[in-house]
Amino acid sequence: MQYVSTRATSASASRNPQQFSDILLGGLAPDGGLYLPQEYPQVTGAELDAWRRLSYAELAYEILRKFATDIPDADLKALTAKTYTEQVYCNARGDESAAEITPLRTLEQSAGKTLILQALSNGPTLAFKDMAMQLLGNLFEYALAKNNDELNIFGATSGDTGSAAEYAMRGKRGIRVFMLSPHKKMSAFQTAQMFSLQDPNIFNIAVEGVFDDCQDMVKAVSNDLSFKARHKIGTVNSINWARVVAQVVYYFRGYLKATTSNDQKVSFTVPSGNFGNICAGHISRMMGLPIDKLVVATNENDVLDEFFRTGVYRVRKSAETFHTSSPSMDISKASNFERFVYDLVGRDADRVHALFRKVETHGGFDLSGAPGSDGDEFRLVGQYGFQSGKSTHVDRLDTIRMVADDYGIVIDTHTADGIKVAREHMAEGVPMIVLETALAAKFNETILEAIGTDAERPAGFGSIEELPQKFVVMPADVARMKAYIAEHTGL
Ligand SMILES: *Cc1c(COP(=O)(O)O)cnc(C)c1O
Repeated sequence: MQYVSTRATSASASRNPQQFSDILLGGLAPDGGLYLPQEYPQVTGAELDAWRRLSYAELAYEILRKFATDIPDADLKALTAKTYTEQVYCNARGDESAAEITPLRTLEQSAGKTLILQALSNGPTLAFKDMAMQLLGNLFEYALAKNNDELNIFGATSGDTGSAAEYAMRGKRGIRVFMLSPHKKMSAFQTAQMFSLQDPNIFNIAVEGVFDDCQDMVKAVSNDLSFKARHKIGTVNSINWARVVAQVVYYFRGYLKATTSNDQKVSFTVPSGNFGNICAGHISRMMGLPIDKLVVATNENDVLDEFFRTGVYRVRKSAETFHTSSPSMDISKASNFERFVYDLVGRDADRVHALFRKVETHGGFDLSGAPGSDGDEFRLVGQYGFQSGKSTHVDRLDTIRMVADDYGIVIDTHTADGIKVAREHMAEGVPMIVLETALAAKFNETILEAIGTDAERPAGFGSIEELPQKFVVMPADVARMKAYIAEHTGL
């Protein structure tokens, strides 16, 4: 299996075929594009039948080996077996469903309509990013050990991503994590989750500023190419290909658990921000998984909903990006969207290059086919199963209340956006699976506002704010940051 950049010309693609291991530790392709397989591996009906009997870890192995063809099977099997265990994914439930890794729960079944919740938040940080990040930690450690190399992950977080990365990389040989976060701006729970880690390879840096200041520091350090090379700096952002592939597994799992035969179809609704999660759904569908609809659910930051309703992709400025009660979906542009656009325009890398250059110069592009637009491929969106919808703060409160009253469970704010939109796209005879992306305990303030009581905390998280914390406070000063990294990498 070889990988190409969404912006590669055919000449450069054939000169630079990349293997899975080549792109594992990186982010963007050198031409600024994103990596995708040259073609999507196909899954047969016989395979799907056989996969119905597998554990989650075994299924992950079967799917990953189609993409990571340059990693020996035995190694891949060991890596997936080590990652997808009941011990790693037991936090949220701790009951008999923990062995399922992503257990399904039917919320409603009436008049031929079925609404199912698939839990993706059983990992150590109680959000779906653990599904892929835990595997990434093991893959990174494996790849670095093979080359006797090391890696210093440098990133900025406003909450979920940073903690998922730290819990995936803690204690891993050859890896250090330097994570910037805005000082005193995260919730007490999120802060405690990150800062209570005492592992010597985890460095939490609280920056005196806002999230954008943290991100600017990451950019400044990454743009210093000689510093970056000397200190072996890398990232784990949502465009990482291995993260996307790891997410493909739970679409297959959800389908196999919600159906009994391969002539049945299901739809998925996905609370979306950077388009990473639902991009894995698109890839699953392209591989032949019988998915009917892929429904993109956004919050007030509706860049993606706007595109899937109108064909116009219009990124927002920082000032137009709302801070909402589903904060992990507060994005101004969707970093993985380019992967879908590549397929939508018939894998024409020159078109993709031109369209995303227009994003930089004009803030977006228009594929609606209207006079003066950049193309008419919007007419093809339906062929890929995509639909969309939007949810607001009031919708979230209503949905959290309704789900608590009707089904007796308390869902988080992002999942509430998903359920709200899913209910607008239900079809008779096609089960609708909503991906649950976080646990309510992480966003307690809004839960309190919706139902007047606290969200239940999973066992072991009861007094997380009381644990000793390890972090340093630093001004938003790039030179200080570089000195700190140099001192602690010893490179
Ligand atoms: C990251 C995140 C999302 C958005 O996922 P994308 O892959 O960026 O679309 C949704 N919900 C939660 C809880 C998240 O942490």
